Amino acid sequence: MLGLMQDRPLLITSIMEYAALYHSDCKVVTKAVEGGIHRTTYGEITQRSAKLANALAKLGLTSGNCVSSMAWNTYRHLELYLAVPCMGSILNTVNPRLFPEQISYILAHSESKIIFVDLTFVPQLEKLGDKIAKVETIVIMTDRANMPDTSLDNVLCYEELIDAEDDHYDWPDLDENMAAILCYTSGTTGDPKGVLYSHRSTLLQTYSSCTKDSLGVSKADVIFPIVPMFHVNAWGTPFAAAMTGSKLVLPGGDMTGENFYNMIKQEGCTISLGVPTIWLALLQYVSTLEDDDFTSLPIENFVVGGSAAAPSLIENLETTFDCSVVHAWGMTETSPLGSVNRLLAKHADLSDAEKMEIKVKQGRPPFGIEMKIVDDEGNQLPRDGIAFGRLMVRGSWVAKAYFKQPDLHILDDEGYFDTGDVSTLDPDGYMTIVDRSKDVIKSGGEWISSIDLENVALGQAQVAEAAVIGIAHPKWQERPLLIILPKPGESPTKDDILGYLDGKIAKWWTPDDVVFIDEMPHTATGKTQKRDLREIFKNYTFPE
Ligand code: AMP
Repeated sequence: MLGLMQDRPLLITSIMEYAALYHSDCKVVTKAVEGGIHRTTYGEITQRSAKLANALAKLGLTSGNCVSSMAWNTYRHLELYLAVPCMGSILNTVNPRLFPEQISYILAHSESKIIFVDLTFVPQLEKLGDKIAKVETIVIMTDRANMPDTSLDNVLCYEELIDAEDDHYDWPDLDENMAAILCYTSGTTGDPKGVLYSHRSTLLQTYSSCTKDSLGVSKADVIFPIVPMFHVNAWGTPFAAAMTGSKLVLPGGDMTGENFYNMIKQEGCTISLGVPTIWLALLQYVSTLEDDDFTSLPIENFVVGGSAAAPSLIENLETTFDCSVVHAWGMTETSPLGSVNRLLAKHADLSDAEKMEIKVKQGRPPFGIEMKIVDDEGNQLPRDGIAFGRLMVRGSWVAKAYFKQPDLHILDDEGYFDTGDVSTLDPDGYMTIVDRSKDVIKSGGEWISSIDLENVALGQAQVAEAAVIGIAHPKWQERPLLIILPKPGESPTKDDILGYLDGKIAKWWTPDDVVFIDEMPHTATGKTQKRDLREIFKNYTFPE
């Protein structure tokens, strides 16, 4: 017998309509791409989204088709986030930091005929030339006064496009399983793969992220997502903000520590989210300020994900700003929140050092995400915090296939997705990433965790960034090479670094050498680019 409750579809449209009705006067503040601070409200944004939908309909956009964006975190990008999916179409958020060939591949693969582009990225599109010949309309996200001279054809101005339109749109009744947002993930090999979120998966991830043990977003918050809206929906925060009515602060294209600090201070941000390099930029900037007491700022939580949060980073942020760091893990395929680290009630009386041992873990899965670790044959491994193996996840906001790749089967027999991460699970449910499966170092048959080594090395006061890769070794198969980017003005020696590691890691984990570089290569999503490091050091041999 079926229950007798209403079956309302889980739609992004319902978030937009709720925001229009209940949060119309709540603020959305953007560091505008054109310069200056732009202030608006959810009320205005939802009206402008309706205008945008009317304009897109006239441009011929129909249900099930893709529109692409190449844009920063701004109010106009938020309007696209609402208008396009709620029309029944799909917003493909392109990461502008990808290589030109990857961008043209994504635009072609998604069959986008319309692209919305921020001023910053117009030159990139110009360089793509014929490779994006199938794109029929390019909308530059600015007003007439700021429109650039461009060699691009069929260019429209965003503000002119929507200006004359009606601010009412008859949003269609959609099936909650319809596609809403497409986000490509760039693996190290092959073409980018499209992860296609549905309205339902987006809603469920948004509900989950607002719970207190997850991001805990509420109307009382001022949320500042620095993680880009072109990468996994800025970890779902635009939707969480619109659902809860929290004030939303957006950094635009100004990716400087100075802008992060100013926005946090001037707008009273309580929660901010980003990858570790963002927080290093913020800490670097505040270290240059004369005022050295930032503890009175209202910031309560920095959410760190995308790469491992080292203990030194967690400690630095927490002491500088008198706040809590929330370590989170996820990936494009998990929408992205797969685990969030919050301490349990039983941890309240632990010492700071004991608490830190827990905080560096990637966290516990929220309700709705299931995890297991398996060996290479697929056998489950114990949840004892010691055994490590391939991390497998399943849940209502985890991908089951890639866009237009029906023959690529990505789930195991139980419906779990192989994350490509190697992890432990402990008896309290905390997951710890040991490595990406392709990055683990196998020395004499035993594994060395590059992440653990990097985390310890980052604690050395002269180190800005650290990366460990495996180098072939005649006796041990592979041994770790530690690559250090020193802080500005610092020139640590190999002995400084190895002396610091001594006693903090197992003796046999000690890197066989330490080398220094001037610039650390990063991926388009801000992670250390180990593939490039392996290329740079491909002819390297350890000293005798
Ligand atoms: P992406 O799909 O680009 O968001 O990348 C996802 C990958 O980033 C994951 O599979 C992990 O390898 C890595 N990652 C994300 N969060 C963390 C974290 N907190 N600690 C370590 N690695 C992480």
